[in-house]
Amino acid sequence: MTRLIFLGAPGAGKGTQAGFLATSLDIPHISTGEILRKAIQENTLLGQKAQKYVDAGELVPDELILDLIRERLSQPDAAKGWILDGFPRNVTQADFLLKLLAALEQNYDCVLNLEVPDEILVERLLKRGRLDDTEETIRRRLEVYREQTEPLIAFYRQSQVLQSVDGDRHPEEVTESLLEAIAS
Ligand code: AMP
Repeated sequence: MTRLIFLGAPGAGKGTQAGFLATSLDIPHISTGEILRKAIQENTLLGQKAQKYVDAGELVPDELILDLIRERLSQPDAAKGWILDGFPRNVTQADFLLKLLAALEQNYDCVLNLEVPDEILVERLLKRGRLDDTEETIRRRLEVYREQTEPLIAFYRQSQVLQSVDGDRHPEEVTESLLEAIAS
């Protein structure tokens, strides 16, 4: 049973690494960004409400994300563990997660923080070419990360479960370090 929270700036490689870890540990990879992109593509009510925020590189309002995460963590497959990628994104979401996990009688084992220098992040995001990867949106997403998400590093450091890993290496080396961090 492994329950992991994955932190890191946009472009740090969270999605890729969370995918590898999920396969290796046989647990669901829960990416709020992926869920939102699918909802936008399928034009669901959630997608309609979320689109303008995603397109602008802003965070989607908490109430939309909190319902989504409550529902996802209550699914049967989440009983065997999970890896959260892209959630929590601010202190309100992190507080909510603590309460939700207490209600579900679950706890997280480890918070992984993937560290990559700024100039590499921008380079990677520009190469990725996702619809929300325009230069302006990238700049805004990095600002939003610094303002709202980075404070979570201090939030989780207090609970002494935070493990920082250098993400500016070959993907396989990064995965190896992450697995070591989880096992330690
Ligand atoms: P990501 O795939 O994690 O980079 O997320 C892409 C976009 O989805 C972000 O720029 C936000 O607009 C939105 N998003 C993803 N996760 C969250 C979240 N936990 N809270 C608010 N917005 C989110």
